[in-house]
Amino acid sequence: MYDVIVLGCGVVGAATAYQLARYPLKVAVLEAQNDVANGTTKANSAIIHAGYDPEPGTLMAKLNVEGNRMAGEICQKLQVPFARVGSLVLAFDEADLATLRTLYDRGVANGVPGLELWDQSQVRQREPNLSQEVKGALYAPTAGIVDPWQYALAMAEVAVTNGVELHRSAPVTAITPVEGGYAVTTPKGVFEGRYVFNATGVFADQVHGLLETPDYRITPNRGEYYLMDKSQHEQVSRVIFQCPNENGKGVLVSPTIHGNLIVGPNAQPVEDRHDLGNTAQGLDFVREHATRSVPGLNFRENIRNFSGIRANSTRHDFILEESPNHPGFFDLAGIKSPGLASAAAIGKWACEQILEKETQLEPKQDFVDQRTHVVFHTLSREEKNALIAQDPRYGRVICRCETVTEGEIVAALHSPIPPHTINGVKRRCNAGMGRCQGGFCGPRVQDIIARELGLNPCEVLMDQEGTYVLTGETKAQGGKAHV
Ligand SMILES: Cc1cc2nc3c(=O)[nH]c(=O)nc-3n(C[C@H](O)[C@H](O)[C@H](O)COP(=O)(O)OP(=O)(O)OC[C@H]3O[C@@H](n4cnc5c(N)ncnc54)[C@H](O)[C@@H]3O)c2cc1C
Repeated sequence: MYDVIVLGCGVVGAATAYQLARYPLKVAVLEAQNDVANGTTKANSAIIHAGYDPEPGTLMAKLNVEGNRMAGEICQKLQVPFARVGSLVLAFDEADLATLRTLYDRGVANGVPGLELWDQSQVRQREPNLSQEVKGALYAPTAGIVDPWQYALAMAEVAVTNGVELHRSAPVTAITPVEGGYAVTTPKGVFEGRYVFNATGVFADQVHGLLETPDYRITPNRGEYYLMDKSQHEQVSRVIFQCPNENGKGVLVSPTIHGNLIVGPNAQPVEDRHDLGNTAQGLDFVREHATRSVPGLNFRENIRNFSGIRANSTRHDFILEESPNHPGFFDLAGIKSPGLASAAAIGKWACEQILEKETQLEPKQDFVDQRTHVVFHTLSREEKNALIAQDPRYGRVICRCETVTEGEIVAALHSPIPPHTINGVKRRCNAGMGRCQGGFCGPRVQDIIARELGLNPCEVLMDQEGTYVLTGETKAQGGKAHV
């Protein structure tokens, strides 16, 4: 029997596994999809919020501020791209200026460091491309931008390196109480565990429902985005928000950690939790609101649209609790924004629940809290030359837009959580993330995956199960593949 089973490997499941891996516990993580961080964690604004937005006294307020601090430390230690660029909330009129004052007071109550209220001239001086209509702003220096996949992946990799078992393509289909714990059924087998954490994102209420009827519902809400070319990166140097409203934090314009510009999201309730479509209406809304903040945005420089689904719930806070009727079964549910910013602290909260019950547990002495992640284009000339001398594959550029080498792709394919898909490689080393969106490097990445993993190229998927890229017969294998 496992000590702990974590359901779901988004950023919350990964952060939970990362904390549990510090203790001598037998831990399994069960993830429905064929890769980690493929749910909401891969499709959001990628902001490590400062923490002035949530109401004081809520879990969101406490864990956002703590998670923000932890994110800085973890990203530095695990080589995750992260920058504390700071954020501005803009005011366009007197009512907005009053809202800024409320947010400032909330932030102070929540313990957010360094908040400042800027007047019009301060805003213009520091962000010259913002609208002339801006009357003032709330500046939060601790807000940051991160690569959300890398953040979750890094924590999951360290967990796996330290002995946590990760089972991908293992959707949970039943949860039954058994002597001393719970039996969790998946197509990969039945896993028995003494404690279970439900970190299944927008599906958390349904997964909880496999055991008992939960007293909350997830009310999915979709947000759509533009991802702009690097030509737009310098429009702003901080994360630019408008005043929040009942639909959330509103439309933002922000540099991304990879040098692009992200613009969005809207907020649209949806029935279908898998519906990641983009709509003309949603994108029009985003464009209209974003240009109110930054009038010079050039939407012809858009390279991709995408959307993510918020795990809003019928409660208005994160749902972190043990089931009163089923001790040892915990929800980490309703993790809407600022869930990414709070994830590290949520993982710590989950681990503390186990430590409270298992008082004899002492941290492992041999826990390895690091990983290696080479990003070739960030190295100095000397470092590049040394790496190429050691492994010539670092001298072959596969993705021209992002300067990603064959060496980086091969390293990803042999990492602690190896990807099997073209998008899995993209998320790990950025190949295909640039202006051409994989038009050039996609087939080359596919070849490398097939070669390294000993697959027929027809078996290499774009992303989730069933997303075949090639069909028909291949000369090399002479075999018929998927049609
Ligand atoms: C539009 C938008 C913008 C956002 N912007 C921000 C932001 O800038 N900053 C911020 O802090 N937060 C932001 N968020 C929120 C943040 O993205 C989420 O809070 C966070 O990603 C939630 O992580 P998670 O691990 O709970 O969920 P997920 O990432 O969805 O992970 C849940 C995992 O559970 C798996 N799963 C589901 N069902 C099963 C099953 N039956 N068995 C096994 N596994 C299962 C899924 O495949 C998935 O991998 C935003 C969200 C959205 C939608």
